[in-house]
Amino acid sequence: MNEIKTIVVVGAGSAGLLSAMTLKRAFSRLDVKIVHSPDIPVIGVGESTTAIFPPFLHSSLGIDFVEFFTAVQASWKLGVRFVWGDPKDSHFNYTFDSCMSTKSPHLRKAAPYYCLSDWSDASPSWALMDRGLSPCFRRPDGQTAAQVAFGYHIENQAFIDFLTKKAVECGIETISGNVADATQDESGNVEQLLLTEGRSITADLFVDCTGFGSQLLRGKLDETFVSYRDSLFCDRAVVGQWQRSDPRDPVLPYTTTETMDHGWCWRIDFPSHVTRGYVFCSAFCSDAEATAEFKSANPQLNDDIRVVPFTSGRYEGFWRKNVVAIGNSCGFVEPLEATALHLVVEQIRMVCRLLSETDLRLLPEMESIANRQYRVLWDEVRDFLAVHYRFNRKRDTPFWQHCRENTDLAGAADFVELYQRFGPSTLGSTTLSGENVFGYDGFTTLLVGQRVPTDYQPLLFESDAKSWLDHQNRIREYIQAALPMDVALKQFGTATLD
Ligand SMILES: Cc1cc2nc3c(=O)[nH]c(=O)nc-3n(C[C@H](O)[C@H](O)[C@H](O)COP(=O)(O)OP(=O)(O)OC[C@H]3O[C@@H](n4cnc5c(N)ncnc54)[C@H](O)[C@@H]3O)c2cc1C
Repeated sequence: MNEIKTIVVVGAGSAGLLSAMTLKRAFSRLDVKIVHSPDIPVIGVGESTTAIFPPFLHSSLGIDFVEFFTAVQASWKLGVRFVWGDPKDSHFNYTFDSCMSTKSPHLRKAAPYYCLSDWSDASPSWALMDRGLSPCFRRPDGQTAAQVAFGYHIENQAFIDFLTKKAVECGIETISGNVADATQDESGNVEQLLLTEGRSITADLFVDCTGFGSQLLRGKLDETFVSYRDSLFCDRAVVGQWQRSDPRDPVLPYTTTETMDHGWCWRIDFPSHVTRGYVFCSAFCSDAEATAEFKSANPQLNDDIRVVPFTSGRYEGFWRKNVVAIGNSCGFVEPLEATALHLVVEQIRMVCRLLSETDLRLLPEMESIANRQYRVLWDEVRDFLAVHYRFNRKRDTPFWQHCRENTDLAGAADFVELYQRFGPSTLGSTTLSGENVFGYDGFTTLLVGQRVPTDYQPLLFESDAKSWLDHQNRIREYIQAALPMDVALKQFGTATLD
């Protein structure tokens, strides 16, 4: 097998740009090119990340924090505030600071046991979220530093413009052109891309980042699609935004996820504007009905409202022959946990790890190794989202009744069963893969947060109640040094990353 010398990435959305830059940084001797259509726009949505994203950008890709923040006008995300679950509760938070799995030396048991009855200020991020404070703290030496785990809110087009500039800076050639077809050799490997403009482009490895079009994986290699329709019923989103007019209007440091009649609605805050998106199920309401409900819940919305259709599912494999597909071209799950960019990062790392192991040679075994990991990765995200739909009792509409009765918990069924029997015990971890994106912490947050019934009766003593109160008070004291969002956003240029 010959060494891979050239890689062509098709597509310059966030998946294409991040893939190209990661490959170039991992293997500087590679010739990496991007070809992208001047006619097919990027998806234009996708603004919320998980906590792996900032370290990936700044450490793995070496992107300067201040340069990024200045160019993209991003904001911090401490977690997700769910207006979800039990109708008696206002909300619960899913934080990035491992709230449920952190064991304090001052507590006899892990946090979720106490959270069953009182989980206000259960962790620093929880307390920051409920007060609208930033992850940046003023230190005794006067410096400002981000001290808790965070993700980003990033506007899709601004991020792509920034990444395009950085890709050119790191030596990646960008070619404008529409890929119409590809030729294959006798073993099925793609040899060259054929552009409508009459040009052809050869490479040793092709990365398909063509979004929902999946030009190479599905279009050329005819990969089978595996639907998630038994667990995830939503298939459209109506999206819109409004500009901030009142400077006193706070920029919220989290994504809000709110139950609607036929699905749910996100709210993402930026310093200049707020975006909203209503993810709904077309079997229960039309675009016009969803838009009407969306507008009535958000009267501030601009007129620029659009509907984005999608299908939740993945392909049988993302790696076939000398083609790997990353981003929407290899699968999509609805954005309830904002996992798309997370999966892009996981998959491109998987590709880099395998190429590094083989010294940039394509061996037949790589395909099955990578596809096995990919299937586990994606199916576990589907499983986690299913838990959200199965147990949400916030509204009693036909859509939510249908979800409660019909959502297939798939791979999450064992975790849920153990929880129903033993409460928030760590036994549940044994049902998850070691690489699970959400892990014990995520599943437990969703089960405790939605107040899913359990046979477990907490055996807590008076001294435990006192320890929990002390724990909460320590957190309240700790966050005294946290900066309000408006102050932190103005000072980001001086903040450092811990
Ligand atoms: C409603 C909704 C909300 C979302 N929210 C989030 C979120 O909060 N967080 C998150 O992480 N993700 C979210 N996503 C997903 C996210 O938008 C995408 O996964 C991410 O932006 C990556 O997109 P992409 O690069 O795969 O595709 P795209 O942005 O669609 O880019 C495709 C690229 O391929 C090019 N192309 C296509 N066909 C051809 C061709 N034939 N020849 C040449 N070039 C071609 C296009 O020109 C474009 O450059 C959301 C998605 C939806 C639908």
